[in-house]
Amino acid sequence: MAVQLRNVRKAFGTVQVIHDVSMDIASGEFAVFVGPSGCGKSTLLRMIAGLEDTSSGKVSIEDVDVTETEPAKRGVAMVFQSYALYPHLSVYENMAFSLRLRHAPKQEIEEKVREAAGILRLEEQLHKKPSQLSGGQRQRVAIGRAIVRQPKVFLFDEPLSNLDAELRVQMRLELARLHKQIGATMIYVTHDQVEAMTLADKIFVLKDGVVQQTGRPLDLYRNPDNRFVAGFIGSPA
Ligand code: ADP
Ligand code: MG
Repeated sequence: MAVQLRNVRKAFGTVQVIHDVSMDIASGEFAVFVGPSGCGKSTLLRMIAGLEDTSSGKVSIEDVDVTETEPAKRGVAMVFQSYALYPHLSVYENMAFSLRLRHAPKQEIEEKVREAAGILRLEEQLHKKPSQLSGGQRQRVAIGRAIVRQPKVFLFDEPLSNLDAELRVQMRLELARLHKQIGATMIYVTHDQVEAMTLADKIFVLKDGVVQQTGRPLDLYRNPDNRFVAGFIGSPA
């Protein structure tokens, strides 16, 4: 399995926000965590990334227990909704940044950045600063920063929620194409049912820190296990 959670729980102080979550995400799968705001999607993703400790339970990546492993050594790359680009650096340098930190050879950096720019159609933007880009292009640079690291798993936390409706649809298609092209395991968090239905191989529906149902989009739509799933993504029960 690419990513496996076993009986993961998380409390902030005395408040339990994730309750006994177990999940399996296969290699190459596009998994989507969907649920209303506050249900624990980001917390789950951050525990997979190692940005947040688990209160109990186990996280494995490619069958290695990483529960105690620091984020940089987990082989994951996270893309945030806020882009988190460096404003003073060019697009090229934004994408090269993590490779420079690792002291990668100059030629390797150049190859990886150009390859990612090609995949994301950013070849013409490499010399620009983030402020000179459109919202969609900035989001692509944020994705490019993840691609150059060649992670085992891509983690996306509502990456499209800052974009307008038309651009969201366009970026959704881009993400589907990206997944097909590079075939990596991707975990995508959203509160948007349409995004979940169109992008996912496998959906995890969350409510109040509990996985309500897991399955392929059409199966959940046709056979929701409970009223919440039916109301949230299924056909009217
Ligand atoms: P989602 O991403 O689905 O909107 P989150 O994972 O951000 O939900 O949050 C789940 C719950 O945990 C919410 O009730 C939120 O207020 C709480 N929470 C998240 N992070 C913290 C934190 N650092 N400290 C305290 N409570 C938090
Ligand atoms: Mg969130």
